[in-house]
Amino acid sequence: MNRVLITGAAGFLGSHLCDRFIKEGFYVIGMDNFITGDLKNLGHLENHPNFEFIEHDVTEFIQIEGELDYILHFASPASPIDYLKIPIQTLKVGSLGTHNLLGLAKAKNARIIIASTSEVYGDPLVHPQSEDYYGNVNTIGPRGVYDEAKRFQESITMAYHRFHGLETRIVRIFNTYGPRMRLNDGRVIPAFMGQALRGEDLTVFGDGSQTRSFCYVDDQVEGIYRLLFSDYAYPVNIGNPHEISIRDFAEEIIKLTNTNQKVIYKTLPVDDPLQRQPDITLAKKLLHWEPKVNREQGMKWTFDYFKTLSEEELFKSEH
Ligand code: NAD
Ligand code: UDP
Repeated sequence: MNRVLITGAAGFLGSHLCDRFIKEGFYVIGMDNFITGDLKNLGHLENHPNFEFIEHDVTEFIQIEGELDYILHFASPASPIDYLKIPIQTLKVGSLGTHNLLGLAKAKNARIIIASTSEVYGDPLVHPQSEDYYGNVNTIGPRGVYDEAKRFQESITMAYHRFHGLETRIVRIFNTYGPRMRLNDGRVIPAFMGQALRGEDLTVFGDGSQTRSFCYVDDQVEGIYRLLFSDYAYPVNIGNPHEISIRDFAEEIIKLTNTNQKVIYKTLPVDDPLQRQPDITLAKKLLHWEPKVNREQGMKWTFDYFKTLSEEELFKSEH
């Protein structure tokens, strides 16, 4: 049985990846320090014979008994308010954490995929963004801690590939959503859905003309899975190119949730990218992958999940 280590396993994407690899017949070791994740996301795997969990901060030396065939490095704060709140940990997990995992991959002779992001393109001057665009990042802005950590992560991964001949893969993930997102992580989908469920007005930042392109989690996991088993070591965008402005998106959520809330406008965060849309030509050609779930369906499944949360979870606010 092939053995895979998944970091960030108690988070949104990590927990879905654990499910997928278990389903495919792997032995899965999940690792997380719960800085933004929650063990509840893995509750259903607690007694699974092919799953074990290790609580560990990946910025500290990582020791794993036995063999490893694959590593998926997904540990990192991922939402703007998370990485603004814990900027140093964000820089450390992308740099020191990635270094530790690359070292582990080398020691175990394992293939590693690292979770990069559309944020490496910063506030892009090219639209849609293809992998050959170098990006437009403000290194010293508040978002720089995340963007630069991820850019460093890509560089050190390519260095291990070139210098040590390590089998590496880099996925550039564009805004992905679905069940198990943290209601109060500040990202726009949980924010709007939480507001709708609590009967609050929906907070659009800026004038809402900025755009995003949202990918359902199952499509994202499929793209990551195919990339890991491809033979391509350079970055690949995985996301859904269907772009929408945040203002129109708020209206869509009001319709979906069948609520009477209004949209209210708040200050746009510093360096908030104006436009974002993945060019997925490469993923289509290389992986024969494209997203299958449209936003209407994906948002409905996501809202169904948020509706199952308790009143306590709904009204609990860390931020
Ligand atoms: P998440 O916050 O739900 O999950 C991240 C997990 O990593 C959490 O469980 C957290 O506790 C864990 N973690 C953070 N630092 C750690 C450390 N030092 N040691 C061990 N565990 C640590 O976020 P997510 O949306 O699931 O994102 C997962 C990965 O995908 C991240 O690397 C993120 O940058 C990347 N990504 C996500 C998106 C998206 O739209 N969801 C987009 C681009 C990139
Ligand atoms: N956003 C918003 N209201 C909110 C939360 C976010 O208008 O309550 C906007 C945010 O300014 C950004 C977009 O929605 O333009 C997506 O934000 P998110 O934090 O989900 O992801 P990212 O900016 O990293 O793409």
